[in-house]
Amino acid sequence: MNNKQEITYPLGTRPGDGEVVEVCDGVYWVRMPIPFEGLDFINLYLIEDDDGWTMIDSGYNSNKIKGLWTEVFEKHLKGKPITRLICTHFHPDHMGLAGWVCERWDITLTMTLGEFSFGRMLFLESGGDVPDHLIEFNKTVGFTETMLEAVRKGGHSFFKNAVYELPASFERIEDDQILNIGGHDWQVMVGRGHSQEHACLYCKSKGVLISGDQVLPRITPHVGVYVAEPLANPLQKFLKSINRFSILPEDTLVLPAHNDVFIGLHNQLIYYREHHAERLSRLKNACGSPKTAFELLPVLFERELNEDDQRLAVAEGLAHCHYLVGTGELDRVVGKDGVWRFQIAQDVKTAVA
Ligand SMILES: [Zn+2]
Repeated sequence: MNNKQEITYPLGTRPGDGEVVEVCDGVYWVRMPIPFEGLDFINLYLIEDDDGWTMIDSGYNSNKIKGLWTEVFEKHLKGKPITRLICTHFHPDHMGLAGWVCERWDITLTMTLGEFSFGRMLFLESGGDVPDHLIEFNKTVGFTETMLEAVRKGGHSFFKNAVYELPASFERIEDDQILNIGGHDWQVMVGRGHSQEHACLYCKSKGVLISGDQVLPRITPHVGVYVAEPLANPLQKFLKSINRFSILPEDTLVLPAHNDVFIGLHNQLIYYREHHAERLSRLKNACGSPKTAFELLPVLFERELNEDDQRLAVAEGLAHCHYLVGTGELDRVVGKDGVWRFQIAQDVKTAVA
């Protein structure tokens, strides 16, 4: 069953790079480019407040995007300042210009603790040679020698280049907290799995959910296992945390960070559950004999993967394997070579009990 057809895009338009489109009274959609392959653009949002504007996410760190923001600030703020920047999560397309925006408007960055501290950690770790523990982790999860060489050559400065100097302090928002913006209550709804403590914002009176990367139309949010938490089970967290979005009204207008503003939240969440259930079922069928996450890629992905895709795909494959280790359906075995392989649990009964 494919529920993608049941998603509608009621605006019938989208802004171009650096352009602004009004979504509903007081809420504006700004689009910015992303300077790498895979995702073409990111959606940022501006919410009008009484004495200023709340900005949701900042875009990737680049001079071009700073220039586009400067034009937006000059033309679209009705003479009012940006008074608050909320970043949904730490990924560079969302938090990349947070430090610059906070400097420009002399404001404090607002985020959840999990997202701010994770982003700040990666920012401070970034730079210099690729650390040994990253190479070791990549070997453990089955990277080929070609992939390892690409990691070594790629260096360890990606995050520092993609993210403008991050503030050393922040203002915390938490799950269920209510922020009043322009006379309307916006509820913080924390989602998990795509990142640590992803903040979405729901406004009941407007019927609007700013969903960041937690709920995206046309694609499933990336859910992966990475070196900082090698035994993580993010797919379990993702599937659990989307349940609470299912209780929002069906006609909620969803403002995602990628692709277009849409209606069809429930159908999209059903699609995610079905998509992952189908991938998990494929994995179980393929793990009659022990396999590394890398060896399982053709089972999970139909399309041809380039080198960058392969790394993300291994992280995603691991997330699916760890989900099934969590339910007791797969065992993770460590070979003499130190590499993790996954196979159908030898004693499923014992594991489930
Ligand atoms: Zn993201």
